[in-house]
Amino acid sequence: MLAEKDKIFTNLYGEQPWNLVGARARGVWSNTAEIMAKGRDAIIEEVKKSGLRGRGGAGFATGMKWSFMPKESSKPHYLVVNGDESEPGTCKDRDILRYDPHRLLEGCVIAAHAIGAHAVYIYVRGEFYNEASHVQQAIDEAYAAGLLGKNAAGSGWDCDVYLHRGAGAYICGEETAMLESLEGKKGQPRNKPPFPAGAGLYACPTTVNNVETIAVVPEIMRRGGAWFAGIGREKNTGTKIFCISGHVNTPCNVEEAMGIPMRELIEKYAGGVRGGWDNLLAVIPGGSSTPLLPREICDGVLMDFDSLRAAGSGLGTAGVIVMDKSTDIIYAIARLSHFYMHESCGQCTPCREGTGWLWRMMQRMVKGQAKVEEIDLLLAVTKEIEGHTICAHGDASAWPIQGLIRHFKPVMIERIEEYWARAKAA
Ligand code: SF4
Repeated sequence: MLAEKDKIFTNLYGEQPWNLVGARARGVWSNTAEIMAKGRDAIIEEVKKSGLRGRGGAGFATGMKWSFMPKESSKPHYLVVNGDESEPGTCKDRDILRYDPHRLLEGCVIAAHAIGAHAVYIYVRGEFYNEASHVQQAIDEAYAAGLLGKNAAGSGWDCDVYLHRGAGAYICGEETAMLESLEGKKGQPRNKPPFPAGAGLYACPTTVNNVETIAVVPEIMRRGGAWFAGIGREKNTGTKIFCISGHVNTPCNVEEAMGIPMRELIEKYAGGVRGGWDNLLAVIPGGSSTPLLPREICDGVLMDFDSLRAAGSGLGTAGVIVMDKSTDIIYAIARLSHFYMHESCGQCTPCREGTGWLWRMMQRMVKGQAKVEEIDLLLAVTKEIEGHTICAHGDASAWPIQGLIRHFKPVMIERIEEYWARAKAA
């Protein structure tokens, strides 16, 4: 269990003022200049030492990502903060944006210095009106207090921060689609390479990091990388905000240690599964794109990157969607198929056409109006999409169905047999 003293997001529930006065009372902006005086390399080294892995889904090592930015460059460098948060089941960045925006801004200044950037763009999901409003007010307060702009926070480093509101397309959460969108174009992912560190925003070296990733950086620098690395498990370190929703008694966001057992997380903070743990059917552990896990696996799995990966799923965004035995699991996954079809940007054929195929086949699977052999055909279609597209959206559309077939194939077969038995009797 995470000790109170180790919590970073001490205003996760908005009980204190989110403005500059409230933020300062929580220790934000307390020694920013001192941290930045350590220099670019020292900051990157400390973040590497902390073991921080990106909190947006992929879990790439943050310090390593920063070190990919060129040391010398004739072009400007940019930091882009991903606050698009559109993965179903995920609502953690939202609470940082609305209740602790200054923590994020302080992280922006420190991270910008570490990667040699003088400009930061915070890209916020369009639907987050109130959240964007708080961020903008916090930016205004920070400029007025000398914490942003020329000689930001008295550090000697110039750092401007701009808020950009998206227009509600899920795919703009993909880092290169976000860059296209920021440039005023249609938000469609780019082919990689080049990666953003080489040619990102306006073809200049760019780092894209998630809101939570950037917001934990100031505390890592204040308390030391070793402190952060001492929480959680090896290679899965630090604290994490988990979002628990679905068939639980008290859905919530909570900051806990990485690697907390899933059962403990759900029972301790979300009031347990509706009807008790024995009434659990399955959990989607990391936002809608991660494969579901049946109850037997949920009994012992740990909530971190490597444990969930070993269990055939992933930590993703840590959006934990709990489903009890009242769930029509085939319909639940079909609903996700519709989402991924709807949000495909349409650039690559396996995703554009394949997501439609998945949705149409899943509609029939929900009714049982299919042949049993078609379950394997459905799986084959997911394999044709997975890994064959420009961005991970194709994988995201394939994985929920793969999880369904892996763990609930007998339920799908039963549905088909029932359908044909009814049709015969009619
Ligand atoms: Fe667009 Fe889908 Fe291709 Fe991603 S995988 S670029 S969303 S068509």
